[in-house]
Amino acid sequence: MRHVVVISTGGTIASRWQGDGYAAEAAGQEVLEASAVPDGVEVRVVDLFTVNSSRLTTDHQLRLLHAVHDALADPEVDGVVVTHGTDTLEESAFFVDLFHGDRRPVVFTGAQQPLDAADGDAAGNLYDALLTASSRRDIGSVIVFAGQVFAARGTVKRHTVDARAFGAPDGLPLGRVEFGRVTWGRQQPRPEALPLPERGTTAPRVDIVMHHSDGDSVLFDAAVGAGARGIVLVGTGAGNANPEVVDAVRRAVAAGVEVAVSTRVAAGAVAPLYTGGGAVDLAAAGALLTGTLKPGQARIAVLAALLAGGGAGSGAGLRRILDAAPRTAPASDLYLVDGVGH
Ligand code: ASP
Repeated sequence: MRHVVVISTGGTIASRWQGDGYAAEAAGQEVLEASAVPDGVEVRVVDLFTVNSSRLTTDHQLRLLHAVHDALADPEVDGVVVTHGTDTLEESAFFVDLFHGDRRPVVFTGAQQPLDAADGDAAGNLYDALLTASSRRDIGSVIVFAGQVFAARGTVKRHTVDARAFGAPDGLPLGRVEFGRVTWGRQQPRPEALPLPERGTTAPRVDIVMHHSDGDSVLFDAAVGAGARGIVLVGTGAGNANPEVVDAVRRAVAAGVEVAVSTRVAAGAVAPLYTGGGAVDLAAAGALLTGTLKPGQARIAVLAALLAGGGAGSGAGLRRILDAAPRTAPASDLYLVDGVGH
């Protein structure tokens, strides 16, 4: 027998109609009962909370992180499945991944259709997640959705309502779940796990501010004024802004705020290409460029670095997280065979 712990947190996979819209309502056992359980797998359900994931706080995510570690404290457990709303699933999955040093997997899944939809995706996604959690090691935290397995890092929600909700804009799926079997592509090396924050840790404030045409530094400065210990600046293009924002970044970094630069573009890395307010100047002002991490996960990287460093924003912790990105060829190269894209 393989043993899997299912940690239920809410989301559409646990949602029902409330008269004017859907909201998370079902307990973990009800979610589980909607799905078949793979042969040879025994499941224990932990009801952690029941919320739609746009309502999640860092405190929820810290509770989830500790619940995962509590489940894996039992040597009989082969893996963990987390049922989660899709809106911020990529954030929680990456958060858990950064602190995950266990060989056993944590598999995040959810649904785009509510629990009781006749043609819904809840049952299939949960079955595939149970199969994955009970059959593989050394994959860290992954997202199983619509028959695909993605590494948590680098994966984003890419469609608001389509069943194929997730994708890795700069990579490939790790595997596929088809006909009741998981087939795997290549394995990614696992980075060293960050030290687990103590229970009851007070979470630092980390904000996201997006640049746009006619953008100024008002919202960035407001984040500093609100007590942010970290800020992700979502630049245009390869991570660019303007000289006013660069000055604001310089002031924030001097005040001890961790500043990271991501991009509002759907795919590709931020890169120090442009001066005159671009990523070259933002980096010179003390911001760290987050590679291919998209804004939600860039924020999680800053948050995790602050939590692991006891709230100190030295930049070293964040640099370590960013440097641990798997060195893979860009997806555009991987899809080329003999120079022909397919
Ligand atoms: N709003 C929902 C949530 O994130 C969406 C979903 O679960 O698919 O909780």
